[in-house]
Amino acid sequence: MNALRVEDLNVHYGTIHAVQGVSFSVNEGEIVSIVGSNGAGKSTIMWTLAGVVASSGGIVEILGSPLPSKPNEVVARGLALVPERRRLFSALTVEENLIMGAYLRKNDQKVKDEMQRCFQLFPILRERLKQRSGTLSGGEQQMLAISRALMGNPKILLLDEPTLGLAPLIVETVMETILRIRKEGMTVLLVEQNATRALEISDRGYILEAGRFLKSGPGPELARDPEIQKAYLGG
Ligand code: ATP
Repeated sequence: MNALRVEDLNVHYGTIHAVQGVSFSVNEGEIVSIVGSNGAGKSTIMWTLAGVVASSGGIVEILGSPLPSKPNEVVARGLALVPERRRLFSALTVEENLIMGAYLRKNDQKVKDEMQRCFQLFPILRERLKQRSGTLSGGEQQMLAISRALMGNPKILLLDEPTLGLAPLIVETVMETILRIRKEGMTVLLVEQNATRALEISDRGYILEAGRFLKSGPGPELARDPEIQKAYLGG
C-alpha cells in the first residue's frame, strides 16, 4: 500500500506558485528522497504534508485516507515531521523535548518505552537527558529532533534536511540512523539539498526544480547520473 500518495499538488504563497503540479508516492517501508536546490519547494511540500501549509489543489493521501486539515490530526494519523533547522525547544531539557514529542500519548509507560527506544538509537541522549537542548552540539540536536518525532510512534517520518550544517562524520551517523529506523519498519520521506548520500540510501528519488519534478528513478541510479551530478550534486 502507498504510505503517501500525492497527485497534482499545487501550493501558492500569495502570487508565488511554489509547488506546481507535483505527483509522487511513497510505499510502506520505503525511503524516498526529494532533492533540489535552494527555493525549489522542498520544505513547502513537507509542510503541506504535515498539514501546516494549505495546498491550492491536488490530492494528498496518508495510508489511503485524505490528509486531515489540522497538523495535530496529521500526527495522530501517524505522520511526523522533523523540520529543517530542527526547531527544538532550546530552553527545555532533552527529556522535556522528548516528552513534548509524545504529547498525543496518554499512557506514561508507553512514553517511557518510547524514550528507551530513542536511547537505543542514540545512547548520547541518555547522558544529556537533563541538559538544555540549546546547548547540545548540532549533531546531538539533530538526534534529539529525530527522537522527538519518534516519541509519537509515527508510521511515516518526514525529514527536512537532517544533515544541514553537520560535519561529515555526523552526516554519516544520521544516514545510518535513517537506514536503521527503516529496518524497523518505518516509511521515510527525506528532503536534502546535499543530495548524493541521500539518494544513495534511498529506494527512489525525485529531482525538484522550481516547483516541478524534473526526473525520478532509483536513488543510487540518480546519484550516479552525470546530468544530475553536474546540476545538483557538485559533481
Ligand atoms: P530551502 O532548502 O532553501 O528551504 P526549499 O526547496 O525547501 O528551499 P521552499 O522553502 O519550499 O524551498 O520555498 C519554495 C518557494 O516558496 C521559494 O521561492 C520561497 O521563497 C517561497 N516561500 C517559501 N515560504 C514562503 C512563505 N512563507 N511566504 C512566501 N513565500 C515563501
